[in-house]
Amino acid sequence: MARYRGSVCRICRRENLKLFLKGDRCYSDKCAFDRRGYAPGDHGQRRRGKTSDYGIQLREKQKVKRMYGLSEKQFHLFFERADSQKGITGTNLLVMLERRMDNIIYRLGFVNSRTQGRHFVKHNHFLVNGKKVNIPSYLIKVGDVIEVREKSKKIQALSDALDAVVRRGIPPWLELEKDTMKGSVTANPAREDITMPIQEQLIVELYSK
Ligand code: SF4
Repeated sequence: MARYRGSVCRICRRENLKLFLKGDRCYSDKCAFDRRGYAPGDHGQRRRGKTSDYGIQLREKQKVKRMYGLSEKQFHLFFERADSQKGITGTNLLVMLERRMDNIIYRLGFVNSRTQGRHFVKHNHFLVNGKKVNIPSYLIKVGDVIEVREKSKKIQALSDALDAVVRRGIPPWLELEKDTMKGSVTANPAREDITMPIQEQLIVELYSK
């Protein structure tokens, strides 16, 4: 399926939740969801009708998939991997999504959105344990050290994002050395560290049909 190329703010309005897809703008008074918190389209201001169980499960999956910026195929592959692991499938899924390279550099504050993270990873601006990694879906492990490459440290967008990270804060399972533009993973994320309102069980139910 083709990647969505429309306005990302429409996604937040569709999912009825701020998904923080646009970096700084999401924290400003220009946020489209704050200004028009109803569904997009001509009939968006109508009351949302009763939704079937399937509809609720589908919206939950779409929300998480869009939050992490994945295609249906990528998301489903992650789900299958999560399902094949020991433990609770829904939690496994969220933990794996959090461990993606593009998400980790967003969480560490090197970039101000996962989309920007994907772009910078693909363009070889980051090292993991001293080696170049340019795969946004690369899964970071506990103990890995992620750093901005020396020649990339002068990129203004990276410094600007780091200055702005105070607004979001760094999750407890990550450590940031802002001065050296280096971060490390001290633990796997626990379910309670993922604070966005997600009901992952609905996604498991959807894919189990
Ligand atoms: Fe969503 Fe950010 Fe757009 Fe607000 S500004 S609607 S949070 S993407």
